[in-house]
Amino acid sequence: MKFDTLIVGGGLAGLTCGIRLQKNGVKCAIISTGQSALHFSSGSFDLLNELADGTKVDNPLAAAGRVGANHPYAKLDGKFAYYVREAKQLFFDCGIEVNGDAERNHLRITPMGTLKPTWLTFSDFTQLSSSHDIAGKKVLVVNIAGFLDFNTKFVADSFEKCGAECRISSINLPELERLRISPTEMRSTNIARVLENDKTLETLIRELAGKVSGFDSVALPAVFGLSSAAPVRKLKEALDIPVWLIPTMPPSVPGIRAQQQLRRSFEALGGVYMLGDTVVKADFKGNRVQAVYSVNHGDISFVAENFVLASGSYFSNGLVARPDSVIEPVFGSDVDFTAGRDSWYDKSFFNKQNYMTFGVATDDKLRIKIKGEVQQNLFAAGSVLSGSNTIHEGCGAGVSMLTALFVADNLIKG
Ligand SMILES: Cc1cc2nc3c(=O)[nH]c(=O)nc-3n(C[C@H](O)[C@H](O)[C@H](O)COP(=O)(O)OP(=O)(O)OC[C@H]3O[C@@H](n4cnc5c(N)ncnc54)[C@H](O)[C@@H]3O)c2cc1C
Repeated sequence: MKFDTLIVGGGLAGLTCGIRLQKNGVKCAIISTGQSALHFSSGSFDLLNELADGTKVDNPLAAAGRVGANHPYAKLDGKFAYYVREAKQLFFDCGIEVNGDAERNHLRITPMGTLKPTWLTFSDFTQLSSSHDIAGKKVLVVNIAGFLDFNTKFVADSFEKCGAECRISSINLPELERLRISPTEMRSTNIARVLENDKTLETLIRELAGKVSGFDSVALPAVFGLSSAAPVRKLKEALDIPVWLIPTMPPSVPGIRAQQQLRRSFEALGGVYMLGDTVVKADFKGNRVQAVYSVNHGDISFVAENFVLASGSYFSNGLVARPDSVIEPVFGSDVDFTAGRDSWYDKSFFNKQNYMTFGVATDDKLRIKIKGEVQQNLFAAGSVLSGSNTIHEGCGAGVSMLTALFVADNLIKG
């Protein structure tokens, strides 16, 4: 099989890169093992919340120039602001509705009801400018009876710490009884499927309408709109008070919807997406990759002019930690990591963890190095890259999208 560009990994980075390439006439295939980090999304996309030295960031556009030399943002040829605009536009082009501004982080509500800064938030969710937006409000926190991945008590406690007055309630729908027979079926995605039925959603809205009188807003778990945002719109339009959808524990309904929308856009542009297959090895000639091989296709090779590694971090097996090293298993790329396992971790779980900054080594065009040699047609994008600490710095989605767009542009130009 022959393509212009073959992308390994179909999460946020792989799909962003593939969409940009297809739009510019580059024939792409994406091979992807399975779930991506989007399936676990908080509902928000981070750009830059903090610098490596702990300095808090309110304005990512202004602060991006102060990241370290090996940070992926330092390798975008000075076009950080341009790629930030392009990334947001790409979401809109794919029908993914997000709100937010790179000149000022806003606050998102976490599954625990606490507030965290971020760049873009799905329009399903509420965007807050400060905790004062909650203070003094009477909030009804409602759960679906039997749904364990949304903790109303935590949410209500957190809101009350911000000065709100909360009441907790639950809704019981006969249509969900079948799921409730087995607690393992009572998951966000299964509930969202049931609520895609118009009549069931209308029953839920009627039940809610009977409860919300006297409240300023109603908080609900984000279990609406798996394949499109229509149920979310219907819910919000039907109730007289603001609806605050709160992210649940994974899986993330809006995250899965975004993954599907990105994939559909890529395929509509003519891209080939092969889900459920894993790239395992590559053939090289000099400093060029000739072909890659996958589990499902055995000896049948995938030949391409260029290859992009977008296989994610440890979570997706893009990086694998061994007792004394960190490896990239497909191409054997050089990985930036510090010697001595003790230096990888901080024993305090919530402190900055160094292992999060490890990743594949690249040059200023994000071409991968192997044994110190730059590979001419092998690029890396997304969380497989070294140099950023997505949790500590709050830059996960930004790194994935901006580097993917930059790599795509290098391929289009060159
Ligand atoms: C659990 C979790 C939740 C997160 N939540 C957020 C959030 O809410 N907001 C935010 O800004 N950031 C978040 N992040 C940070 C996240 O890294 C980025 O936002 C981004 O989504 C990562 O995209 P990616 O494409 O680089 O990697 P991934 O999303 O990990 O995608 C990599 C893909 O490559 C596939 N793959 C791996 N190896 C192979 C192979 N050999 N062959 C074929 N396919 C392969 C995997 O199956 C996976 O589908 C989260 C990270 C994690 C781990």
